[in-house]
Amino acid sequence: MKILVVEDEVQLADALSEILKRNMYSVDTAYNGIDGLDNALTGVYDGIILDIMLPGMNGIEILKNLRKEKISTPVLLLTARSEVEDKINGLDCGADDYLTKPFVTGELLARVRALTRRRGEVMDDNKMSFNGLELNKNKCSIIYQGNDIKLSLKEYQIMELLIANPKQILPKERIIEKIWGYESDVEYNNIEVYISFLRKKISVISAPVQIKTARGIGYSLE
Ligand code: CA
Repeated sequence: MKILVVEDEVQLADALSEILKRNMYSVDTAYNGIDGLDNALTGVYDGIILDIMLPGMNGIEILKNLRKEKISTPVLLLTARSEVEDKINGLDCGADDYLTKPFVTGELLARVRALTRRRGEVMDDNKMSFNGLELNKNKCSIIYQGNDIKLSLKEYQIMELLIANPKQILPKERIIEKIWGYESDVEYNNIEVYISFLRKKISVISAPVQIKTARGIGYSLE
């Protein structure tokens, strides 16, 4: 899952990003409204955490722009206690939820889970599965019939993307966008390495699942 954090208080933005990364999300951060809108308009995110008071362009304007461009990425607004008007305005403009600062980590994570769940992902909070193969977030592992094997963070994120889109070819560019971000210098052969690790791990636990190569395009989970 890929989350965009738009927050100009650098410490808070970095803390949010850190918490989310520790919980297996991939995260991009924007520290002002203009960059935030630019990123959000790509439509690649599963959720956006959006501060209201931002330099360049405020959160409400960003939200209006997004919805005008028909980008329906779920948005969690961050608001200060004093910004009641903005909160109402934000919900009217298409925000999905809001969180009042200051907040505790557990509440943030619960809101983000709820936010991303609205997209219709097939999972309870910590587990996804495909043909008996379970991807477990708490353990950061894949499990088949009681055998489990640990995944690295990137392996986990690739597996999550494959399980969320089973039997569909995922182009390599899309995997890079989702997991490393647009500005990364990841090469296609880096992905091939992760895929080969994943294939080995799937075969170690004898799961009846295959990551197939669509030559020249990408991969699909079959
Ligand atoms: Ca702010």
